[in-house]
Amino acid sequence: MHYFDENTDALAERVLEYAKARTRLDPIPLNFPKTEAELRSLVGETITEAGIGGERALDLFIDVLEPASLSVDYTKYLSFVPAAPTEAAILFDLVVGAASIYGGSWLEGAGAVHAENEALEWIRSIAGMPEGTEGVFVSGGTIGNLSALHAARRDAADRLGDARPARFAIVASKQSHSSIKSAAEVMDCDVVLVDTDENRRMTGAAVAAALDEYGDRICAVAATSGTTNLGVIDDLRGIGEVCRERGVWLHVDGAYGGAGLATERTRHLFDGLELADSFIVDPHKWLFAPFDCCALLYRDPQKAVNAHAQHAGYLAFLDAHGDRNPSDYAIHLTRRVRGLPFWFSLATYGTKAYADAVDATLDLADAAADMIRDLDYVELAHPPSLSVVAFTRTGWGPAEYQDWSEKAMNEGLAFVTPSRLAGEPIYRFCFVNPRTTTDEIAEILAAMA
Ligand SMILES: *Cc1c(COP(=O)(O)O)cnc(C)c1O
Repeated sequence: MHYFDENTDALAERVLEYAKARTRLDPIPLNFPKTEAELRSLVGETITEAGIGGERALDLFIDVLEPASLSVDYTKYLSFVPAAPTEAAILFDLVVGAASIYGGSWLEGAGAVHAENEALEWIRSIAGMPEGTEGVFVSGGTIGNLSALHAARRDAADRLGDARPARFAIVASKQSHSSIKSAAEVMDCDVVLVDTDENRRMTGAAVAAALDEYGDRICAVAATSGTTNLGVIDDLRGIGEVCRERGVWLHVDGAYGGAGLATERTRHLFDGLELADSFIVDPHKWLFAPFDCCALLYRDPQKAVNAHAQHAGYLAFLDAHGDRNPSDYAIHLTRRVRGLPFWFSLATYGTKAYADAVDATLDLADAAADMIRDLDYVELAHPPSLSVVAFTRTGWGPAEYQDWSEKAMNEGLAFVTPSRLAGEPIYRFCFVNPRTTTDEIAEILAAMA
């Protein structure tokens, strides 16, 4: 099974044929999940002593398994944060798999890591962070946030020495992502949740008040540049100035919204981001890369190395080489060069195409908001921000929201699931797919009448 023979050749043809057909597919179906019992009976036994053969396993995938998995790039998938990888990015994901590159160290992955760093450098430049900012691609925003916050705590602990508190805390807002709380739990830290202003933004004044109250217990402030539920960007300038003044680490979570930096239309909303000590954005969300891909940047990369570099006898050879290694910047050692599909796509189409594609999704959000203003049975729940449009269906309670979404999914009309705002059910459209059309939005809204 480690030699290329005629069976491999035939299988290669079929695998590539599938990949090409799936990439070309239009329209893309939503698909539908099945229960474990259904799948077990449809698929049968796949892991056997003699193997079932690649052809059979591929048939099972194409006929049963893939149709039982939702297509995140379905144009009416507007829940959570969907995905819409570019054609070049999808194709290059195959190349990354075939190339067998270890992305943990410069010594082993230099060429690929160089290309990843080019893509990170573009993100650094649009974020306005200073030269010397460096980072790495990790699996997602959750690991990106945890890695950055761990580096922040390590820095605070190093700085405070014996004066460090028994337990650190992280300042975040009530609108921040669940992964901040999860990171704090992993780190055995507390979270100080501050109130947001009338626009649901965390402000410099609120952060200053928390820092006054908790002092050196705060090892980081975690701001959000584009909340998942509403697309709201915190007052990064106000917060950044307070953090600078007090010498507190500012982490900015732009997992979803950071892509808004790609276009001048929304870049100004991130004013103050240049003050961040660390920043994340998920290209697998709104920058058209396949899963899984989060860019994690540090203003002072040495602080990340202090927190994350692993040392062991069998790794000493790498230390002796003295390179900056991607593994030194986050909680991982072995890593796929997962930034490469994103790099290849950026290199292929250019950054202007990225600005245009993000603009197209912003146009969709504007159009959806206009339609909602015109209809009498739906109402905006919050002024639209970035590419999120949150709204309520007048007169419906939680059960009606749930039923409509189930029905829309079962009938293949759309994948639009309820969320909550201040305890009340809402719907939200999150646009990241430039192939979604205004007709499709109108069709979904009409079905809610
Ligand atoms: C999606 C999201 C995350 C988590 O990212 P994953 O890639 O799903 O781990 C964190 N923060 C925000 C604001 C997000 O939207």
